Amino acid sequence: MATVTEPRLKTRRALQTKLLIDGQWRDSVSGKTFATVNPATEEVIAEVAEGDAADIDLAVKAARRAFDDQRGAWRKMDARDRGHLMSRLADLIEENKDELAELESLDNGKPINESRTADLPLVIDCFRYYAGWADKIHGQTIPIRGNYFCYTWREPVGVAGQIIPWNFPMLMVAWKWGPALAMGCTVVLKPAEQTPLTALRMGELALEAGYPPGVINIVPGFGPTAGAALVAHPEVEKIAFTGSTEVGHVIMKDAAATLKRITFELGGKSPNIVFADADMEAAVHGSLFGLYFNQGQCCCAGSRLFVQDKAHDEVVEKLAAIVKARKLGNPFDPATEQGPQVDKTQFDRIMSYIEKGKSEGARLVAGGERHGDKGYFIKPTIFDNVKDEMAIAREEIFGPVLSVLRFSDIDEVVERGHMTEYGLAAAVWTRDIAKAHAIARRLHAGTVWVNCYDVFDAGAPFGGYKRSGIGRELGERGLDAYTEVKTVTVSLD
Ligand code: NAP
Ligand code: MG
Repeated sequence: MATVTEPRLKTRRALQTKLLIDGQWRDSVSGKTFATVNPATEEVIAEVAEGDAADIDLAVKAARRAFDDQRGAWRKMDARDRGHLMSRLADLIEENKDELAELESLDNGKPINESRTADLPLVIDCFRYYAGWADKIHGQTIPIRGNYFCYTWREPVGVAGQIIPWNFPMLMVAWKWGPALAMGCTVVLKPAEQTPLTALRMGELALEAGYPPGVINIVPGFGPTAGAALVAHPEVEKIAFTGSTEVGHVIMKDAAATLKRITFELGGKSPNIVFADADMEAAVHGSLFGLYFNQGQCCCAGSRLFVQDKAHDEVVEKLAAIVKARKLGNPFDPATEQGPQVDKTQFDRIMSYIEKGKSEGARLVAGGERHGDKGYFIKPTIFDNVKDEMAIAREEIFGPVLSVLRFSDIDEVVERGHMTEYGLAAAVWTRDIAKAHAIARRLHAGTVWVNCYDVFDAGAPFGGYKRSGIGRELGERGLDAYTEVKTVTVSLD
């Protein structure tokens, strides 16, 4: 165990850095570890046990035993008690919320103010929401032909492998564990190598809450080793993955060998459409939030901002003024609005897109360079006069880079909004409510926000059209991904 080094951390405690397998904290079979880095200082926070195929096998076997053992604590547990257990976990997260928020900011670099006011409340709410579902999952009786009694029974799918990214490390745990555990699955989680610390702390809290051994297993490690082993494992029934579309392709191929159930939440290049008749103050602030929130590292970021001709100059001017005053720096300063990007790879990738934007002839109106000389900070950047065919209008940048495009009418903007392989989210800003609904109906996106952006709720399904994903997370629909339906037909003769 290492100790937290960040001097401002109020909650100093030993960090959990081992693998959670079968209710025990263990070193990896290989004995290897990897470093997790504070992206604001580029300093190593801790060495974390590095799981690979051997550890994944142990974790899956533990999850399998916990799932298969009909007399075991998990399978014998009443649905209502499963709900209580999840409420208990939510309570423990709430009791430790300051510490968890700090740990998230330390490992990921997000401003402490956001960890406290966005991530933590959403995590707690997600667990409470799914705690409420545990005893409300039921089948149907079906009037089939003949003298039969036919009913369906909703069963947990089995062992779920869950592979998550680094942009919302704790929230992704909640989105994965919530529906899986409410259904009665057992899980093996692989956190992102950049941000394993909060998932491990949540593992400690899950044990404290009373989850039986083997129900929750956590194996930090790398995608091509630990992640791929989880996808390939024959005793895993389902893979839930959030991350890049590129890795989504790989996982879908690898999962085919064992015909696993899959749900994917992948990339995006979401159109955010501002009409000249919008409440301009709300549209400007909402659009900035929709892109720069979380350092621009959001799958649903409104990275293509379409502004109607008449409002264009005013909007760009307002955006630039606000962005130039944005406060970048130490994530632990409560006044900080923007922290560093998560790692050097992401930093370099974003900087290369900024160079592409410049060389392709877009007009740079703010930012466009690194901030400071330590940590992976990038100044909030705005490109104007962006054309649909430019790389910065087509490819996911996953950073604080906004592309502004002009449009004149509805049909044009809907058509251009669709000029992407993605379909995760979209937004429309207008005072004309009929126009807003009409466009919402036409857009190819799993989520459409009207006069708002990034409004998330555990009850509202989230996921992508096209190459942005398969299936939905959250809400009642989120349970489907962890469910098998059994039909029982009884002769009444
Ligand atoms: P990524 O490679 O897709 O990583 C997501 C998760 O998948 C990580 O846990 C990763 O492990 C794992 N993984 C990687 N290769 C795997 C494989 N062959 N089999 C199984 N699991 C595998 O994403 P990234 O490299 O962190 O980010 C790259 C880009 O992805 C970003 O620039 C952004 O465009 C997109 N992204 C999207 C989201 C989203 O919320 N939709 C989130 C993050 C990133 P490692 O920890 O070893 O990488
Ligand atoms: Mg880190």
